[in-house]
Amino acid sequence: MAIRRILPRPFRRDPTPRQPQQGRSRTNRDIYGLSRWTKCSRMHRSKHPLCVECLKKGILTDCSPGKKTGVTDHIQPINQGGDPWDPENWQTLCNSCHNAKSGKEK
Ligand SMILES: [Zn+2]
Repeated sequence: MAIRRILPRPFRRDPTPRQPQQGRSRTNRDIYGLSRWTKCSRMHRSKHPLCVECLKKGILTDCSPGKKTGVTDHIQPINQGGDPWDPENWQTLCNSCHNAKSGKEK
Protein backbone atom coordinates (compact mmCIF):
# COMPACT_ATOMS: atom_id res chain seq x y z
CA MET A 1 0.00 0.00 0.00
CA ALA A 2 1.51 3.24 -1.12
CA ILE A 3 1.88 5.88 1.46
CA ARG A 4 0.21 8.98 0.29
CA ARG A 5 1.95 12.06 1.39
CA ILE A 6 -0.50 14.65 2.40
CA LEU A 7 0.67 17.80 0.79
CA PRO A 8 -0.19 21.08 2.35
CA ARG A 9 -2.99 22.74 0.45
CA PRO A 10 -1.70 25.32 -1.93
CA PHE A 11 -2.14 28.82 -0.64
CA ARG A 12 -5.51 29.95 -1.89
CA ARG A 13 -5.28 33.29 -3.50
CA ASP A 14 -8.12 35.70 -3.61
CA PRO A 15 -9.86 34.86 -6.91
CA THR A 16 -10.10 38.53 -7.75
CA PRO A 17 -6.77 40.10 -6.90
CA ARG A 18 -7.36 43.57 -5.63
CA GLN A 19 -5.76 46.50 -7.32
CA PRO A 20 -4.34 48.91 -4.79
CA GLN A 21 -6.64 51.71 -5.89
CA GLN A 22 -9.71 49.65 -6.59
CA GLY A 23 -12.57 50.23 -4.22
CA ARG A 24 -12.14 51.06 -0.60
CA SER A 25 -9.31 49.47 1.27
CA ARG A 26 -9.98 47.87 4.59
CA THR A 27 -8.47 50.89 6.30
CA ASN A 28 -10.95 53.17 4.60
CA ARG A 29 -13.84 51.00 5.62
CA ASP A 30 -12.60 50.93 9.19
CA ILE A 31 -12.57 54.71 9.30
CA TYR A 32 -15.95 55.21 7.64
CA GLY A 33 -17.52 52.83 10.12
CA LEU A 34 -16.34 54.83 13.12
CA SER A 35 -18.67 57.15 14.98
CA ARG A 36 -15.66 59.48 15.27
CA TRP A 37 -15.66 59.81 11.49
CA THR A 38 -19.42 60.36 11.36
CA LYS A 39 -18.98 63.22 13.83
CA CYS A 40 -16.04 64.71 11.94
CA SER A 41 -17.88 64.39 8.66
CA ARG A 42 -21.02 66.06 9.99
CA MET A 43 -18.98 68.79 11.64
CA HIS A 44 -17.13 69.50 8.40
CA ARG A 45 -20.31 69.67 6.34
CA SER A 46 -22.05 71.88 8.84
CA LYS A 47 -19.17 74.36 8.41
CA HIS A 48 -18.80 73.77 4.66
CA PRO A 49 -22.21 72.66 3.40
CA LEU A 50 -21.61 73.33 -0.30
CA CYS A 51 -20.15 70.83 -2.75
CA VAL A 52 -16.74 72.22 -3.75
CA GLU A 53 -16.86 70.75 -7.28
CA CYS A 54 -20.34 72.12 -7.99
CA LEU A 55 -19.21 75.46 -6.59
CA LYS A 56 -16.42 75.58 -9.22
CA LYS A 57 -19.14 75.35 -11.86
CA GLY A 58 -21.20 78.00 -10.13
CA ILE A 59 -23.77 75.53 -8.81
CA LEU A 60 -24.77 75.66 -5.17
CA THR A 61 -25.41 72.12 -3.93
CA ASP A 62 -26.36 71.98 -0.28
CA CYS A 63 -24.75 68.95 1.36
CA SER A 64 -25.54 69.87 4.96
CA PRO A 65 -25.45 66.94 7.35
CA GLY A 66 -28.80 65.21 7.47
CA LYS A 67 -29.56 66.02 3.83
CA LYS A 68 -27.90 62.84 2.56
CA THR A 69 -27.04 64.70 -0.62
CA GLY A 70 -23.31 64.61 -0.07
CA VAL A 71 -20.29 63.34 1.81
CA THR A 72 -17.09 64.55 3.37
CA ASP A 73 -14.45 63.42 0.94
CA HIS A 74 -10.73 62.94 1.50
CA ILE A 75 -8.92 65.13 -1.04
CA GLN A 76 -6.01 62.73 -0.99
CA PRO A 77 -7.55 59.27 -0.67
CA ILE A 78 -6.63 57.37 2.48
CA ASN A 79 -5.48 54.36 0.46
CA GLN A 80 -3.08 56.69 -1.31
CA GLY A 81 -1.56 57.97 1.88
CA GLY A 82 -4.01 60.74 2.73
CA ASP A 83 -4.47 61.59 6.40
CA PRO A 84 -8.02 60.56 7.33
CA TRP A 85 -8.19 62.91 10.33
CA ASP A 86 -6.62 66.04 8.90
CA PRO A 87 -9.36 68.64 8.29
CA GLU A 88 -7.10 70.08 5.57
CA ASN A 89 -7.66 66.83 3.70
CA TRP A 90 -11.46 67.09 3.81
CA GLN A 91 -13.81 68.54 1.25
CA THR A 92 -17.55 68.49 0.83
CA LEU A 93 -18.76 66.70 -2.28
CA CYS A 94 -22.29 65.97 -3.42
CA ASN A 95 -23.03 62.34 -4.22
CA SER A 96 -22.70 62.80 -7.96
CA CYS A 97 -19.34 64.63 -7.74
CA HIS A 98 -18.13 62.08 -5.22
CA ASN A 99 -19.07 59.22 -7.55
CA ALA A 100 -17.30 60.96 -10.41
CA LYS A 101 -14.16 61.38 -8.28
CA SER A 102 -14.26 57.78 -7.04
CA GLY A 103 -14.64 56.62 -10.63
CA LYS A 104 -11.51 58.53 -11.64
CA GLU A 105 -9.52 57.12 -8.73
CA LYS A 106 -10.18 53.54 -9.85
ZN1 LIG B 1 -21.21 68.40 -6.65
